[in-house]
Amino acid sequence: MRQYPRPLNKLINELSKLPGIGGKTAQRLAFHVLSLSDSEVKSLAESIMYAKQNLHYCSVCGNLTDKDPCSVCEDESRDRTTICVVETPQDVLAMERIREYNGLYHVLHGAISPVEGIGPNDINLKSLIVRLQGDSDVQEIIIATNPNIEGEATAMYISRLLKATGIKVTRIAHGIPVGGDLEYADEVTLLKAVEGRREI
Ligand SMILES: [Zn+2]
Repeated sequence: MRQYPRPLNKLINELSKLPGIGGKTAQRLAFHVLSLSDSEVKSLAESIMYAKQNLHYCSVCGNLTDKDPCSVCEDESRDRTTICVVETPQDVLAMERIREYNGLYHVLHGAISPVEGIGPNDINLKSLIVRLQGDSDVQEIIIATNPNIEGEATAMYISRLLKATGIKVTRIAHGIPVGGDLEYADEVTLLKAVEGRREI
């Protein structure tokens, strides 16, 4: 089969690097982009650049934000005695959707995975310890990492790490299916999981 023209090949190649996008989907997306008007393509390209240039991680909690500190860290009406530890900014959004949680967050940007060689220093964990050392208001850490091997290993590690501080460490209950993603849990399941958290 003849190759696509070089610009089309390049577009397909770039799109196929995105997560969850296989070769066929990349082709479909590429042809869709080509069917758009010049202004629509410009808007799409600019929105990617705009997001990349204007979003960064909150220096306090690690959440994705367009200002620093982020709106959650800055919100005086939030409960400052509780920090919920999650793996990704998407998990913060999932927690916010249940509308029951009014504490603060800490985003790890990953989980400990000995198999993949990801250790405690490779995730945003040191900043949590620094944060706790400088903030005596915190009474509870809710660990809401994913219910899989990496999430459990991370939860246990944090629990042991904080044992000496006397801060209560809890783990959300397993209403969420084992191996599942927090991000995709429905609100009721996630709410039940938070309500059923236990001390670890
Ligand atoms: Zn923040």
